Amino acid sequence: MSCEKYEKLISVYLEKELDEEEEKDMLQHLASCESCSQQLEAIQYMQRMLKQDDRPIEPINKMKRKIYARIYRDLLIMFAGFVIMISGVAVSGGLAQMFLLDQTPSGVRMFFFMGILLLITGIIILMYDIFVDIFKIITRK
Ligand SMILES: [Zn+2]
Repeated sequence: MSCEKYEKLISVYLEKELDEEEEKDMLQHLASCESCSQQLEAIQYMQRMLKQDDRPIEPINKMKRKIYARIYRDLLIMFAGFVIMISGVAVSGGLAQMFLLDQTPSGVRMFFFMGILLLITGIIILMYDIFVDIFKIITRK
């Protein structure tokens, strides 16, 4: 990973002038790079001093946690989407078979129920994520 590129962008990042993709990229780099995150902290510290602003600097560890939480969330949503997709195929396949065949072979029925089960699992995972969000919004002061 080349730090040079990010070092140049740190001040732009602090001015909040990076676009969304660049900012995400920057945050991910900061999460994994000790040297750049230290540099960021140092610049932030200097800026605060210059502005005589004594609000505490957000610790880099807290920032990292936020970034990891976001990555984890993205993965969770991707996983839920994947599960729902697979189960959609299974359920529609099972339904088609049941309607097309007069007598449903037990294998097809099992396929169908497995699909339903997967669908429910996927929805629960998605709902969990939504509930966590709602909970955060409610408890935010
Ligand atoms: Zn770096």
